[in-house]
Amino acid sequence: MTDTIVGIDLGTTNSEIAIYQDGRPLMFADERGQVVLPSVVGLSETGELLVGEEARNQFMLYPERTVRSIKRRMGTDARVRLGERDYAPQEISAIILSRLKEIAQLRLGGPVRRAVITVPAYFSDAQRQATREAGEIAGLEVVRIINEPTAAALIYEAAQHQGKCILVYDLGGGTFDVSVVRIEGGVVEVISSHGNNQLGGDDFDEKIVAHVLEHLKLKHGVSVSDQPQAMARILRSAEAAKKHLSDHPYARIEEEYLAVNDGKPVNLDLELSRDEYEAMIMPFIEETLGAIHVALGSADLTSSQVDEILLVGGATRTPLIRRRLIETFGREPRGEVDPDLCVAMGAAIQGAAMAGTEVSAVLVDVTPYTFGTSALGELDDDLYPYCFVPIIPKNTPIPVRRSEAFYTVIDGQTSVEVRIYQGENRDAEKNVKIGEFRVDGLSKAPAGNPVILDLALDRDGILQVSAREKKTGLEQRITIEKAMSRYDQAQLDEARERIGSLFEGREEGAEAQAATGSALDALLSKASTRLDGAGEEDRAEIIDLIESIRDARSSGDGSALKEARQQLQDLLFFLET
Ligand code: AMP
Repeated sequence: MTDTIVGIDLGTTNSEIAIYQDGRPLMFADERGQVVLPSVVGLSETGELLVGEEARNQFMLYPERTVRSIKRRMGTDARVRLGERDYAPQEISAIILSRLKEIAQLRLGGPVRRAVITVPAYFSDAQRQATREAGEIAGLEVVRIINEPTAAALIYEAAQHQGKCILVYDLGGGTFDVSVVRIEGGVVEVISSHGNNQLGGDDFDEKIVAHVLEHLKLKHGVSVSDQPQAMARILRSAEAAKKHLSDHPYARIEEEYLAVNDGKPVNLDLELSRDEYEAMIMPFIEETLGAIHVALGSADLTSSQVDEILLVGGATRTPLIRRRLIETFGREPRGEVDPDLCVAMGAAIQGAAMAGTEVSAVLVDVTPYTFGTSALGELDDDLYPYCFVPIIPKNTPIPVRRSEAFYTVIDGQTSVEVRIYQGENRDAEKNVKIGEFRVDGLSKAPAGNPVILDLALDRDGILQVSAREKKTGLEQRITIEKAMSRYDQAQLDEARERIGSLFEGREEGAEAQAATGSALDALLSKASTRLDGAGEEDRAEIIDLIESIRDARSSGDGSALKEARQQLQDLLFFLET
């Protein structure tokens, strides 16, 4: 195991460690099965060193004993205080690296000595050097420092021989980077990079927190912004709601006994819709799109020259990002490899390549088709009732569960027809309809009554569909057994039978045709015409076979006739070619 080179993503918010084993990258999980280690270091009340989750948990309460986002200080002379002592940034990073190394050693059952560590493409020499030193302090030989977008490109295109131009869109917790990368023959080069190292998913959380504080003020007349415990709870709930909204149209933000107002407890209970949330974060997303154009400009490229867009960083799970990228580039970005893990996996691929292992791009289980429903919408500038609305897009890793809100279109509408399709056409009727059902008994509400459609697809291709009236919880569900095959089992059996009988029919038909008297006569006369030009041996064989056919015909011996006839056909065919 001493030759193993691990891959490490030393991130601002989180860090991960991986190796390449049995032809694929493997993430190392800690004792609790967690593969993501928060990049936070702290000291407990009793002076015990805390790394990761425990350190992060105490940050809100004991910021003086906790250090986070040390990556932002790498390459500077800053000193950070932890308990009684001051530390250099590389020393704090070394603590995170040591913990990662410990996790890997535990899993491998042996020492880990060498590593590839990733850094952002914009890191200066001083920042790279500090990262190298952090590795050395942690007892690791840093065999190479590679750029994060390079690692991401390796994940998807490790053995790429044709030249490809790739845009890596990386939105993490606290930083955003976009890089234009060229890959050819397994060699990756970052051509340009742009971003904002103060923008990330944490800003999205802050927007939700601000919204909650406003709600508390308006509805309960309280302000809790000076109460760290309450703020920590709101922040946690806000992040959970944000993640929920990546797969669902609504999220509830609930915290009981959040504060006390006039001696009475304040319970937070607020619903946030995806639409409201998207309006809050839209300016951030637009800023990232602006950065893409800057990066493309520096690389002297237009958007049409980009071959692939790769999504990196946990915040790229936000559907609005994907949607805006599709609108801008007219193509689906790729995000099938977990965006939190792909940088560490790419570093592991680089490590394996350096250790002399042949490597390939990563394969994951994804849906080969898009699944969705139909709704009234616009198609080619006309109102059309069967516009396809994708819910689980093609290439989404499975298992997956997604839901979307749909709305009744007429006042007092008490039922909806739900059709489920598989395919990519904007006209749902041109896709494959794989299921349909009806929800009756909706409450008589004005148009715009939300019905939540929920799709859950598992690895066996079983699709569970439910439609629920949001207001009442009234629900209807169906299960589609073979959602991922174009044919269901009955159709497959039927098709197999049809094709099989075609073949049988063909053989029998051909046999019957060849055995008729006139066909035999034609064969015999053809054979006679070949006698002249044939060599001695062939001539003798043709005569023998003509004789055998005549004998068998007169004696009525069907199988002898068939055999002689086939031999004669083969011989004539051979002589002609
Ligand atoms: P990273 O630094 O790459 O680990 O990204 C962390 C950021 O991604 C944090 O802001 C997370 O809240 C965010 N994130 C993780 N999962 C999701 C999700 N399902 N939807 C939206 N943001 C997410």
